[in-house]
Amino acid sequence: MNGSQWASGKLQVFETMESEVRSYIRSFPTKFRRASGYRMWDTEGKEYVDFFSGAGALNYGHNPPEMKRLLIQYLQEDGISHSLDMATEAKERFLLRFGETILRPRGLDYKVMFPGPTGANSVESALKLARKATGRQTVMSFTNAFHGMTLGALAVTGNKFKRKGAGVPLHHTVTFPYDGYMGPSVNTLTYIENFLEDSGSGISLPAAVILETLQGEGGLQAASGPWLRGLANLCKRHGILMIVDDVQMGCGRTGTFFSFEPFGMEPDIVCLSKSIGGYGLPMALTLLKPELDLWEPGEHNGTFRGNNLAFVAAAEALSYWENDRFAKAIARKGEQLRSALLSLADRFGGEVRGRGLMQGIALEPGLAEKVCAAAFERGLVIETSGTDSEVVKVMPPLVIDPEGLDEGLAILRSSMQQVVEAMGAAAIR
Ligand SMILES: *Cc1c(COP(=O)(O)O)cnc(C)c1O
Repeated sequence: MNGSQWASGKLQVFETMESEVRSYIRSFPTKFRRASGYRMWDTEGKEYVDFFSGAGALNYGHNPPEMKRLLIQYLQEDGISHSLDMATEAKERFLLRFGETILRPRGLDYKVMFPGPTGANSVESALKLARKATGRQTVMSFTNAFHGMTLGALAVTGNKFKRKGAGVPLHHTVTFPYDGYMGPSVNTLTYIENFLEDSGSGISLPAAVILETLQGEGGLQAASGPWLRGLANLCKRHGILMIVDDVQMGCGRTGTFFSFEPFGMEPDIVCLSKSIGGYGLPMALTLLKPELDLWEPGEHNGTFRGNNLAFVAAAEALSYWENDRFAKAIARKGEQLRSALLSLADRFGGEVRGRGLMQGIALEPGLAEKVCAAAFERGLVIETSGTDSEVVKVMPPLVIDPEGLDEGLAILRSSMQQVVEAMGAAAIR
């Protein structure tokens, strides 16, 4: 029996009942039952190493024990589950913890807004606020950016296929080349600067720029420190608000709580979601400079902003950030990952990209998907990134131990070997 027949038996309910829109089930065609830390098990008892972390929603791993204990306790005590934006103890605890472990030690002064519990919702709130605060309409975004699937977020997203899904024109945005987009010899910042400062460029002054410091879905292009600082400077000079979408790169993914910390920037607005809920529970935050807090009560609301189970787990998750041990461990594992990927690139070709525990290897067209499929067969959950799925993206839970990282990387290596050998055979024929 070949793989797809086997899969279609096991996944029949999904294939017959669920819309064709489903996607990750196609990359990982099995039925999962259980997970712990960086390991997952399917209904056949097959074990997997997780190098995907729920697209970045599981930075602290699957079912982290202390968060689980607190969630069970909260449920047993009939703690408030749903509260819109009413005051609850769980939300108060989260806010206090966020202030004392994240904002204060970094000298950051932000008001916290709870949009609906998704990244796209945080992005929508940021775009609305920037337009409201400046009275301008255009928002600058970047090539290969990904900001979510709602209309406002799609308008600042690069991917042609995803944009097309909107079905209406996506207006009031202007796309600029991200750092490195035009090759190593062109500083795209100069290009952007020329456009903004030339009265003949056809571009009106934007309300804001929205960007990821490292493009998670768009192919792991990382912006350099000088480029980011230069952009922040340019924004300041022209009164353009800077929105950093840290939905995927935040919560430690690149080694620091916020991805922009190493660059000495202070964005006007920051979007957080994915791992902010700690346990994979839906939650999102939009952080705004106090002077931008121009909202009228209820001007951007949503039914599920008060997901208290997420607040309980999120408050506990911040324990990882009480000192610098966690950040240091991420840096060490990031180095381990880097050298493993460099050795793969040495052996099989490809370009290593990314930082921290968000790194990958860009391969020839068509290869990365084959490698990820082969890896899944061997018990590794790993996805591609990039408009043409050209990057094998390594995104393990941040809590993975060095042995687990090695275990997954060994599977990745043998999968690449297998794919390259198969291609070689095809070429000889
Ligand atoms: C995942 C993601 C989003 C969208 O988040 P959803 O919760 O899927 O709406 C937005 N921006 C970035 C950078 C993301 O990675």
